[in-house]
Amino acid sequence: MIYKKNKLIFDNFDIRYLGKKFKTPIYCYSLKTIKNNILNLKKNFKKIKPLFCYAVKANANLAILKELKNNDLGADVVSQGELMKALKAGINPKKIVFSGVGKTEGEIEYAILKNILLINAESKSEILTIEKIAKSKKKKIDIGIRLNPNTDAQTLSQISTGKKENKFGVDEKTFIKLVNYAKNSKNLNLKCLSVHIGSQILNYKPYKNMLSVVNRTIKKTNYKFEYVDLGGGIGIDYSHRNLKLNLKKYSLSIDKFLKKNNCKIIFEPGRSIVGDSGILITKVIYIKEGYKKDFIILDAAMNDLMRPALYGAEHKVMPYIKTGRLSKKTYEFVGPICESTDRFSTVKKFQKLNEKDFLVICDVGAYGTSLASNYNLRAKPIEILIKGSKIQVINKRQKISELI
Ligand SMILES: *Cc1c(COP(=O)(O)O)cnc(C)c1O
Repeated sequence: MIYKKNKLIFDNFDIRYLGKKFKTPIYCYSLKTIKNNILNLKKNFKKIKPLFCYAVKANANLAILKELKNNDLGADVVSQGELMKALKAGINPKKIVFSGVGKTEGEIEYAILKNILLINAESKSEILTIEKIAKSKKKKIDIGIRLNPNTDAQTLSQISTGKKENKFGVDEKTFIKLVNYAKNSKNLNLKCLSVHIGSQILNYKPYKNMLSVVNRTIKKTNYKFEYVDLGGGIGIDYSHRNLKLNLKKYSLSIDKFLKKNNCKIIFEPGRSIVGDSGILITKVIYIKEGYKKDFIILDAAMNDLMRPALYGAEHKVMPYIKTGRLSKKTYEFVGPICESTDRFSTVKKFQKLNEKDFLVICDVGAYGTSLASNYNLRAKPIEILIKGSKIQVINKRQKISELI
């Protein structure tokens, strides 16, 4: 995103042009950015040659899933719905892994029917359920077991998943017991150890700690895993201050790990593939003077973009026209929803704004539309994808009549 002659341009398209043509709010994605992100990951992990299973929950738009499939990605799914959509996008079932703490019998049966690469189990009960279903179908099913490495991911507590107080995976002791159980089962084929310590990780050290726990655990089990699935979590630069995870260092720690363990690596990246590829174009409805600050009331709200309300996440907001004239008062960017958490950010010394101005909320490609709802009976926004000089509508704006 750049200013050209003081006007904001996204992948060669003028923001006001898009805003007028499609009406706001608009989710707008850049295919170029998505492809660059994939290339960047492939380049940094070239030596490791991992299987990339895109975490569908980050953004489940069918057109985007098809593009990812065309770039050889597999999928990490967490529900039958996501599995069905990944298959519909043409993703090879042998590149699909199924994660999640609460897979139902129906979901497990469906996954078995579709012959996916791995069901990554997260508890003893789940393993017994998979075994029971496999036995009834006279099959041997490929599974993984998710380890909770009790590692602090140093991210927002709400998106941390690898500490012992979190519901995900099983602790080291239980893991070892479950390996002993699964390896003797006639209906289970234990192939994978999986971990995922959290999301939006910007420091490589938690990953390094995680790898040392994984290494230690594998040693204790004395079992040869064909795959080690390291999950996702690679953070992106929401602050636009060049805060990035050092992929080189992460990659080097994995190299070292592989010298001790001969296995194939799986990654489940979500945010790092789509996060910075999307923007939310919105318009100022009203400006309302408040106590010590002005409320900039936008036509986008927490039902469109939930992350700030849900986790206190910050997204950079940018004006369409750069004037350089600063507002005297602090601005609080809010939506029209009847909740005080319907607030995007609070900024001192933002540029002075007027009603009807276009604005862009940055880096909404991941956990934007996938978390969107119809709260307050608001219709979900249109989604468009920029492909070179073309614009593809990849999801029509919901009609209010569909909600009534
Ligand atoms: C959410 C999730 C991911 C993706 O995380 P990102 O931070 O978006 O990369 C990967 N694996 C599992 C098991 C997840 O729950």
